[in-house]
Amino acid sequence: MAETLVNARGVSKTYNIPGRQAVEVLHDASCSIEIGDRIALVGSSGSGKSTLLNILGGLESPTSGEIDWPGLGRRSELQPLKIAFVFQSPSLFPPLTVIQNVALPLVLAGRLMQTTERAQRLLLQLGLADLSNKLPEELSGGQAQRVAMARALIVRPKLLIADEPTGQLDTRTSMAFLDIVLDHLEETQSALVVATHDGKVAQRMRQRWTMQHGRLSSRAEEWA
Ligand code: ADP
Ligand code: MG
Repeated sequence: MAETLVNARGVSKTYNIPGRQAVEVLHDASCSIEIGDRIALVGSSGSGKSTLLNILGGLESPTSGEIDWPGLGRRSELQPLKIAFVFQSPSLFPPLTVIQNVALPLVLAGRLMQTTERAQRLLLQLGLADLSNKLPEELSGGQAQRVAMARALIVRPKLLIADEPTGQLDTRTSMAFLDIVLDHLEETQSALVVATHDGKVAQRMRQRWTMQHGRLSSRAEEWA
């Protein structure tokens, strides 16, 4: 039986910037995510993809509409173990080494058994073992994105939300890396929602959601 992880109904988001007209950046979005889903979220820059992802992951509240997480629990229980994020912007902690960054969610969750060994094993699986002792400032943009992915996967989340995670990788590297990530998600039966501009990445997903000017549609559309 399919289990619904996230269910959003008529969700909108308006930003009020003092002295300026309020802007609605997400309009009446309804969607749900089931266990094991593979969803690509496509749409031009500024269309509202990150806003939707942040709301689906419980990081931001919608201005109106309803959202709940039937298969996961209350909003306060989602992080860091049930929903993991790979953010669009660099998000590694500068003073921590790669392996410390990757182990961090386990430490925050109080899972202190063999954190370093688990992080080491995951880095090895993802082909990133050479980077273990480097600091974030020593990494290229693409390496930092892959380390951020490792940090998300370490908790074996029920839902992984990735916001343009391959934006700084060349196509061959990103497809090879995506294969490893998808294998990993298969093992842990995790759902994936990935915002991407890369048609090849989008094609590997089973569903495609399209965002246009804050309006979400899940109708299949040709990738231009
Ligand atoms: P995308 O991820 O598709 O590029 P975003 O969700 O980041 O789009 O942004 C959608 C729109 O909302 C953009 O016009 C952006 O400028 C605006 N926006 C995003 N976050 C904020 C914020 N915190 N305050 C005001 N406007 C915002
Ligand atoms: Mg974005």
